[in-house]
Amino acid sequence: MTAIAVLGAGLTGLTTAVLLARDGHHVTVLERDPAEPPATAEEQWAHWDRPGVSQFRLPHIMLARWRAVMEHEAPDVVAEVERLGGLRLSSVETLPTSVTGGLRPGDEQLQGMAARRPVVEGALAAVAARTPRLTVRRGVTATALVTDGRGAVPHVTGVVTGAGETVEAGLVVDAMGRRSALADLLARAGARQPLEEREDHGFAYYGRYFRTPDGARPPVSYTFRHFESVSLLVIPADAGVWAWVLVVAADDRPVRALRENDVWDRVLALMPGTAEARASGVPMTDVQVMSGLQDRRRSLVVEGEPVATGVVAVGDAWASTNPSLGRGSTMGLAHACILRDVLRAAGSAAPGEFARCFAEATASGIGGLFEATRGYDRHRLAEVAADIAGVPYRPEGDAWPRLSAFDAAAQVDPDALRAFRLVAELLASAEEALAVPGLEAKIARIGGSTPRYPVDGPSRAALLAALGE
Ligand SMILES: Cc1cc2nc3c(=O)[nH]c(=O)nc-3n(C[C@H](O)[C@H](O)[C@H](O)COP(=O)(O)OP(=O)(O)OC[C@H]3O[C@@H](n4cnc5c(N)ncnc54)[C@H](O)[C@@H]3O)c2cc1C
Repeated sequence: MTAIAVLGAGLTGLTTAVLLARDGHHVTVLERDPAEPPATAEEQWAHWDRPGVSQFRLPHIMLARWRAVMEHEAPDVVAEVERLGGLRLSSVETLPTSVTGGLRPGDEQLQGMAARRPVVEGALAAVAARTPRLTVRRGVTATALVTDGRGAVPHVTGVVTGAGETVEAGLVVDAMGRRSALADLLARAGARQPLEEREDHGFAYYGRYFRTPDGARPPVSYTFRHFESVSLLVIPADAGVWAWVLVVAADDRPVRALRENDVWDRVLALMPGTAEARASGVPMTDVQVMSGLQDRRRSLVVEGEPVATGVVAVGDAWASTNPSLGRGSTMGLAHACILRDVLRAAGSAAPGEFARCFAEATASGIGGLFEATRGYDRHRLAEVAADIAGVPYRPEGDAWPRLSAFDAAAQVDPDALRAFRLVAELLASAEEALAVPGLEAKIARIGGSTPRYPVDGPSRAALLAALGE
């Protein structure tokens, strides 16, 4: 068993630490932010100071796959989220019967977890604190890597902290998030640079939290719907809380007015199905803005050769994707399982071989998910650009039209809805979900006769008018 240093106590860092410690390793987590996690959900939301995670108080949903895998791997984490007030919720069970056709056996598999991000992280921190062989040290920054100074490829044997202490480790796990400093640390250790893939364009998010006056269940379901040049994300949470997030292209200048509460409210009022909940909801925050988020992946094995050994990257430090699809924590959990499994199978391999095994297992396990998410983003951003230019979006190939038809059918047909949710919740591939006899033909028929955007949603002109343009 190995002494492992995990750098970063975010969602993936803590998850990785728990899984590895439970597999017999001795794990030390070093987290730059000093604050200890408060005990209750309200304190976690109001008082937990986490400057190291800029999205800490922005809306998060845990997809059904996160709930299912976590329930299998570490059921106490799911139980702790629930103890803190988090809910198991599926978009199917909270939609009107006219759309779902009534509940069906099997719908419970679509349950994800609705809880504010500080609450999910608080649950993970509580479980980590009672996990044997696991120590979380907060207020400790990793500032340099220690290497053995022998071969041409640096072999990492530990990290140096901001206080000058050396923490030795048989394996260093970078879970420092999407702004991970690992590339700089590697450069200073004399390593080649990791291969970085990064998109030029991205989305911007304008979100606002609301709460029911009495803390009753939020009156909304987790949904993500597209309109002309804008999308609406609806994220329920614990304690009667929910958020609406307007998702736009970051380079769409007029929509920047959305940062004003009154402008944001006018645009929300254009969105179908929001009026009743808006009227009863108590605003908890002003508009929160997040942009500068791109799909990005860093590979530590370049053309078959590791840039360094004894170090791996997981979660956002490996790859981060468009947050509106809510995939980050689920991919991070899958990555933690991959690392645990590769350590089981190849932990005693030579360092270079171990690095290659982990890179291959990452590529085959979640590389496709990253690429599919990036493909989705490219299409949606190009579609929004076409909406802004007032021209139809004409993508190459049939992947986007087929996905749009699937989405349209899911809004009116109960079978298509279940299949679509299975894919969106990362429980099945599109091929698996569409393997129901007759379903593809039905989706093509519905999609072919439905406009790209629902008739009750805002046009670009209506959006600009509400923005005051
Ligand atoms: C706006 C937004 C909305 C999102 N919504 C969702 C969602 O709905 N569902 C979902 O699943 N995902 C969502 N995500 C993605 C999710 O937040 C990330 O995937 C997740 O936080 C990644 O966890 P992580 O542990 O890899 O990194 P992080 O959570 O970023 O944690 C990194 C940690 O490393 C620490 N650190 C950094 N440098 C050092 C250092 N030198 N030494 C020690 N510690 C260090 C930081 O302080 C931090 O605690 C969203 C992301 C954004 C930006």
